[in-house]
Amino acid sequence: MRLNKNVLLSVIALMTIFTDASALAGVRTVTSRGKSYVTLPNLASYYGMPVTQPARNRIRLQNKYNKIEFETESRSVWINGTLVALSEPVRKVGWSWAIETADFNKTIEPATRPQEFLKTVGNRTVVLDPGHGGDDKGASSPRNIHEKLVVMDIANRVRNRLEARGINVELTRERDRNLDLDSRSRTASVLKADVFVSIHANSAGKKRDIRGAETFVLSLPGRYSSNSYGGGALPSSANTGNRYDVANMALGYRIQQNLLRATGQEDRGVKRARFEVLRDAPCPAALVEVAFMSNPKDEAIVSDPAGRDRIARGIADGIVAYLTDVSRARAK
Ligand SMILES: [Zn+2]
Repeated sequence: MRLNKNVLLSVIALMTIFTDASALAGVRTVTSRGKSYVTLPNLASYYGMPVTQPARNRIRLQNKYNKIEFETESRSVWINGTLVALSEPVRKVGWSWAIETADFNKTIEPATRPQEFLKTVGNRTVVLDPGHGGDDKGASSPRNIHEKLVVMDIANRVRNRLEARGINVELTRERDRNLDLDSRSRTASVLKADVFVSIHANSAGKKRDIRGAETFVLSLPGRYSSNSYGGGALPSSANTGNRYDVANMALGYRIQQNLLRATGQEDRGVKRARFEVLRDAPCPAALVEVAFMSNPKDEAIVSDPAGRDRIARGIADGIVAYLTDVSRARAK
């Protein structure tokens, strides 16, 4: 049969619709002003989670497996107590509060039911990437402790903990040396990484009161990054790393959750950014900002070997939790 171009295009359009429907596996979506949403009542009935309203601006969905707490007109959602940034705020659609379908698929689902979505990703080799190095000191604390050395030490501690559990671990740099950003992703690719975790420590300069841990995963195509929401033009093209959007969130969420458990630090959330090492990652990837070098309390944590060890335990536990999710998904 000869297909003319129009017929072919409508066949492709139909296939796209069917793909979307199967990916949603039954959640009801609504369209408003050309955008697709999942209302919170529909989300609650899809998950079988009763809804309560613990505060005027909070909507809580909870069953015995998960607790998801949304804040109205906000991009903050707490999934089992860990803060995660939505790409778009919770909005009123008709009479109901709703999230965009992209946030449902790429944020809520991988964080709450990772074992359903990680069938096709690998679980063998972990590549850890200590940020900066050599001339590039990274952030410095008021007492002149350099990020490059803090993160090198943490990466080694994470490696030891993972290797003790029989996990294959490689580092992008083994010592204090310069390493440009594309070599980091290239190394991950050469080493056939299944997981890539870049380790950094933050600085807020003179804003000494800002502290805590945050974990970044790649921004969704056509969506704002968390820290530049609403500003500038929206980059719509997908990057290499966007092939792993769902696994990126599953990984980032596990790391942030376990890092906070191990350290008790302030939770700055799982956020999205277009950092180069995330854009070019050849596998699921996350970038952890373990603390703020510019904050006295956080500086005390990273300058103490016991503090760095707690951070390393948190990151290692997060990676192990993610690898366990992957193993469960693959065994299904
Ligand atoms: Zn850094």
